[in-house]
Amino acid sequence: MSGKIFGQSYRRFYAWLLQLGRVRAMLLGTTIAITTSVLVTALVMAVIPGSRDFFWYNMIVAVVSPLVSAPGLTLVAISMVYQLNAAQTALTLAAETDALTGVSNRRSFMAQAELAFAQTQAGGPPFAVIMLDIDHFKAINDNHGHIVGDDVLRDVAQACKATLRGSDCFARFGGEEFVALLRVTDTASAAVVAEGLRKTVAALAFENRTPPAVTVSLGVAGYLPGAESLHDILNEADRQLYAAKAAGRNRVMVAGGGMRQAS
Ligand code: GH3
Ligand code: MG
Ligand code: MG
Repeated sequence: MSGKIFGQSYRRFYAWLLQLGRVRAMLLGTTIAITTSVLVTALVMAVIPGSRDFFWYNMIVAVVSPLVSAPGLTLVAISMVYQLNAAQTALTLAAETDALTGVSNRRSFMAQAELAFAQTQAGGPPFAVIMLDIDHFKAINDNHGHIVGDDVLRDVAQACKATLRGSDCFARFGGEEFVALLRVTDTASAAVVAEGLRKTVAALAFENRTPPAVTVSLGVAGYLPGAESLHDILNEADRQLYAAKAAGRNRVMVAGGGMRQAS
């Protein structure tokens, strides 16, 4: 319990320190050092008889010593705090990002989707997921090589991410399969978004390389009251995705029966 309170206080202090900035932290550190030094010197003079004979000498030393050493030491300390914070931010980002495509990774998606599921289940707004798989991607690798395959993965991922809202999460689920979490979105609206993604990918021109035509198949599923877990919804989106593949690819299939196809 006390550890938790200490942890919270430390985090608050850490955030406050970062907000303060280097110069103000240096001034604050120096002021604290001088004040402490003067108070200790005054206390010593009050206790040790005879030391008051050197009052001004003692006071000048009490002020000048920390004035010389504290700014540099505080600056070094605060710089280390800044570096630590930058490293933590970079680590967190790396842990949540797919290295090849630069979009979110599966772990980050699952954490966000679990949260969305819990909020919707507790009476919050609905959400939907879109599963997206690149069509005949193996043929792209086989015909143009893995480097071009990787470029296609990156371009498709970035184009889809750019099509979505900032509040949505677009992640690489694995291989050439991606998934989108659309917050505050019902199934019908998600179907429209999925169609937008399909068109965006179909319109991509891979002009700088051997240009393989790329299409995607998509499955859409929204939260339904009574769903017991996020996996129910992901499985439904996956079923729709494979129905889209079976129906000829380059199309969207929606839980509940709707289908949008290549146009
Ligand atoms: P479908 O239309 O049925 O989805 O066919 P597909 O060829 O896209 O699917 P399949 O599962 O047969 O092949 C997927 C290929 O994706 C096989 C695998 O080598 C390739 N792949 C997976 N991850 C990567 C990657 O990071 N880079 C590259 N270049 N290829 C990858
Ligand atoms: Mg595929
Ligand atoms: Mg696949």
